[in-house]
Amino acid sequence: MNAAGEAGKPQERCGCDGRHVHEALCALFDDGQLTPERAEQIRQEFAECPSCSGRMQSEALIRELLQRCRCEDPAPQALYQRITAQIRFTARG
Ligand SMILES: [Zn+2]
Repeated sequence: MNAAGEAGKPQERCGCDGRHVHEALCALFDDGQLTPERAEQIRQEFAECPSCSGRMQSEALIRELLQRCRCEDPAPQALYQRITAQIRFTARG
């Protein structure tokens, strides 16, 4: 029963190269020329790390929110900044 104890805790710090992770996220979400193969490769990289996988999901969520907001709200910047600030706070651990 004790084995499941760590599963629910967020990762404090992962061993990934932060700059590499950032570049991969940018490529995945901001580079429109990314090939499906490369996108899949990046996703598999993130899948190996729970911490980075969570970060990728947060980035995906932000972009989804922004795309929805764009239809109704001409200025979603405040929302974006609020979410990214929360993520930075969380990531700093
Ligand atoms: Zn990681």
